[in-house]
Amino acid sequence: MSVSTAAAAQTICAPLPVLGSDVTVPLVTGGEVSYAALDYAASAPALQRVWDDVAAYAPYYGSVHRGAGYLSQLSTDLFENARNTISEFLGCRADDQLIFTRSTTDSLNLLATALPADCQVFVFETEHHASLLPWQDARVTYLDAPRTPAQAVETLEQALAARDPHGPALVCVTGASNVTGELWPVRELAAAAHAHGARIVLDAAQLAPHHPVSVRELDVDWIAFSGHKLYAPFGSGVLAGRADWLRAADPYLAGGGASRKVTRRTDGGVDVEWHETAARHEAGSPNVIGAYSIASACKALTEAGFDTLVARERHLIEKVQTGLAEVPEVRILSLFGDEAPRVGVISFVVEGWNSSHFAAALSAEYGIGVRDGLFCAHPLVRTLLGSDPQTQGECGAPEAAPGEKSLNAIRVSFGAGT
Ligand code: PLP
Repeated sequence: MSVSTAAAAQTICAPLPVLGSDVTVPLVTGGEVSYAALDYAASAPALQRVWDDVAAYAPYYGSVHRGAGYLSQLSTDLFENARNTISEFLGCRADDQLIFTRSTTDSLNLLATALPADCQVFVFETEHHASLLPWQDARVTYLDAPRTPAQAVETLEQALAARDPHGPALVCVTGASNVTGELWPVRELAAAAHAHGARIVLDAAQLAPHHPVSVRELDVDWIAFSGHKLYAPFGSGVLAGRADWLRAADPYLAGGGASRKVTRRTDGGVDVEWHETAARHEAGSPNVIGAYSIASACKALTEAGFDTLVARERHLIEKVQTGLAEVPEVRILSLFGDEAPRVGVISFVVEGWNSSHFAAALSAEYGIGVRDGLFCAHPLVRTLLGSDPQTQGECGAPEAAPGEKSLNAIRVSFGAGT
């Protein structure tokens, strides 16, 4: 490993005791290795408090909404209380619906199935694929990457001003980029959307774990996030917001739980009345432990206090940024400029290094787990790297020749919620 790689690795290692992200990982080949998981943007380690809450509930696990028995009643209460806790955490309006899903990807795909006819969708090309791609069946306008937050608002306003003002429209925007960590001007974008008669959904997958989010204060129509990025385990997510489009849509999944009444017709067919509540889109036995663990994480973050968490994280971000700036070969990727406020997500390239090899070296030689590649945001990373849209660049990309541009990047991500 070259000197500069070692310097970059040390920089990344420096804040680890503060991050508290060292874990001991069992090896498949036997034994253990000490490891620093700095890939919170992919999945943040579940909080001990969450594991404790889940362990305390686990012996009493029962079927939700199905059963007169005590365990079923208890599980139903926990599931519905989780819905209330998370609604409160998100600052939802009284008449909003909160639907449990599998993830942010699932939430946005669900909303995509609930778009009214002829809905026009506006989305920046900089989005994570989860918010870029679900709208393919609608009329989608892809907006060019802005270079300042103000330009983002201006670009959206121009696009909305040019649309048919009578039809329904939806803007989908992320609150914090999973590539640059930069914060997007959500409140201003929401105001622009509403001024032009459009609605807005916030992809809060990267924002909610780091900053307080309030549907009411930001004035967004829907919000989506994933439990596993918010210090809860895998398998659960949330879509919360306006009930009308969701109530008018066909159920996301057809099945038990979503249906209120099913009758056999005289012609041999079947008639179904669907629920109009969140249950409409939650067919099947729900993931009660997933919902419960998100609620537990929300409570833990609220009790820790976002003022404290944000201040701690800002300190860590500055430390990593300052350290990386001392390595001349490192270039931090940014859309809005180095000074732009961001969450603990920092992507960079190291001149002369293939990012995949660099990330592999960090893991093998320093026990640091980072992410390499295009981070499920191919158009954005290619824009930031200035690479040809046709070139490959995911993990395992061919090594860039000396002097050539990197085809992919390295991402280090962390949070203060541990
Ligand atoms: N949106 C953003 C901004 C993300 O960073 C991610 C995941 O990295 C997603 C959406 C998708 O989240 P999930 O994989 O949990 O569905």
